Amino acid sequence: MTEEIEKNPQEKPSEKKRFQIQINRGYCKSCGICYWVCPTHAIGKGKLQEPIVASMDACIGCGQCERLCPDFAINITARPTTDEEKVILNG
Ligand code: SF4
Ligand code: SF4
Repeated sequence: MTEEIEKNPQEKPSEKKRFQIQINRGYCKSCGICYWVCPTHAIGKGKLQEPIVASMDACIGCGQCERLCPDFAINITARPTTDEEKVILNG
């Protein structure tokens, strides 16, 4: 007798969370703290020491940049996962 092993949905590897990085240029004074503290280099150094979003997908949502920015110029928010996007698109 063969027994089918039912997969436990709890054990399904969860999809990687994604985050959106928003930098408010009006507040930023290019101090560089955000790109020095970012552990994944999602934020990098641009021209004239300005922070740039180097790789949105590299952001792990740790919030270090947002917490340490002295000018409250960064907002990190969750982006929908691809599965969630499919649900939104299909209604
Ligand atoms: S920490 Fe804030 S003020 Fe400093 S470079 Fe980054 S966004 Fe600009
Ligand atoms: S939340 Fe963390 S990983 Fe994302 S940009 Fe800021 S410091 Fe980098």
